[in-house]
Amino acid sequence: MRLSKFNIKAIDAPEKGKMAVFNTLTRGMAILEGSALEGIEKGDSSGLGPEEIKSLEELGILIPEGFDEDLFFDVYYNQVRFDNTSLRITLLTTLNCNFACPYCYEGDLTYGKKQMSGETAEDVISWIKKRAIEGRVSKIRLEYLGGEPLMNLPVIEKTGHELLNFCKEKGIKFVSIIISNGYLLTKETAERVAAAGVESVRVTIDGPEEIHNSYRFLRGDGGKTYRTIIKNLQECKDVLSLSICGTYTKETGEHIPRLLDDLMEAGLGPDSIHKVQFGPMMPSDTGGKAANFDKRCIPMDGYHDMIIKGNEELIRRGYGNYAEPEFCPCPAVCSGDYTINYDGALYKCPCLVDHPGYEVGHVAKELNYNAEMVRCLGYNTFENERCRRCNVLPLCLGGCRYMALVQKGNFHNLDCQQEGIEAITVETVRRMAKEL
Ligand code: SF4
Ligand code: SF4
Ligand code: SF4
Repeated sequence: MRLSKFNIKAIDAPEKGKMAVFNTLTRGMAILEGSALEGIEKGDSSGLGPEEIKSLEELGILIPEGFDEDLFFDVYYNQVRFDNTSLRITLLTTLNCNFACPYCYEGDLTYGKKQMSGETAEDVISWIKKRAIEGRVSKIRLEYLGGEPLMNLPVIEKTGHELLNFCKEKGIKFVSIIISNGYLLTKETAERVAAAGVESVRVTIDGPEEIHNSYRFLRGDGGKTYRTIIKNLQECKDVLSLSICGTYTKETGEHIPRLLDDLMEAGLGPDSIHKVQFGPMMPSDTGGKAANFDKRCIPMDGYHDMIIKGNEELIRRGYGNYAEPEFCPCPAVCSGDYTINYDGALYKCPCLVDHPGYEVGHVAKELNYNAEMVRCLGYNTFENERCRRCNVLPLCLGGCRYMALVQKGNFHNLDCQQEGIEAITVETVRRMAKEL
């Protein structure tokens, strides 16, 4: 019997002399006397009774003799990433955008005539239906992204209505969400997308009015956008489930609490906003800056203190709680995840659209695994000694490959964020221990 390598310890939690131990693979947690844990670390389990030992083994905190924890991790990892029971599609209806945010990770790609055509939308629908039938999926998750996806409402309506009907007919669960800058989200538009199966919209606001307007302004005349977005959110809150995400820099992060207060004053408190989440602005390879996409794509280089503080501010106002750390492989390495560009080209990561060499197929063609697809699904970037010894491997899984591309010039490399992941996890475990 030994301690799992995936344990994270929060000392003096929930109170002095105790220790909260969390296993990042099983997500099991136990509160122990600090001295008992120290004993096990030295090979002396006399501080624990047989029942306690059994329960710690069940939680994955203690590993019985003969049990290969690395193999268990590998089996679980591969089961999750090659689970084809759901199909998760990010659909870029257009690369055009009515905003000209200077940090946009898509940079110059947001200029020009880059709208998905009705014909390509037909191909997208057929491609998704074919994948769903062949894979016998039980769920399709469709996420509309851009540019600004609402600049191509006909494609949202076409794909939404057709896939909604298809899923109803086949008994498949259909979940659809839009990521939008919120400027075009009038009540009428919200009702139209809701009729096309969209349940929720995630709108980006980068801070209180003057900060938001200085980063997220209109293309062309540089017009302000904050008030229009707030008005739209107020009018749509009964039509769609709303969430807000935002991007901050080392300079603007401290103003996020003021935005939260403004939202509450505008009637957009926790009752109206399903989730609020902020992420740091990170570099991109297009000369702009990359923002985070979803929980699986959060870079944090040097920002973990701000992430922890930001979470506290959200919790204090009732906007969320400390989400339990999750086992969430990057979509690029999962066989059920695809990004479809406005022209029908397929990618494994939304940040790679229009990047030569990273296309893994096209909706108008048969899906044959090409070299890039094989690299995405075949490589385990973390197959090295350091990662194998790392206690947060199940939460990191090699990190964001796009950040590795930006920082090291190779998408199939590592983006190590051990210090940040550990710090955030210890804080979360501390909070969970208090709430037990
Ligand atoms: S960050 Fe979003 S809203 Fe801003 S220019 Fe880029 S695509 Fe448009
Ligand atoms: S490489 Fe990074 S941004 Fe791309 S899908 Fe994976 S986690 Fe998300
Ligand atoms: S990349 Fe870093 S944080 Fe991730 S598993 Fe490897 S050592 Fe751990």
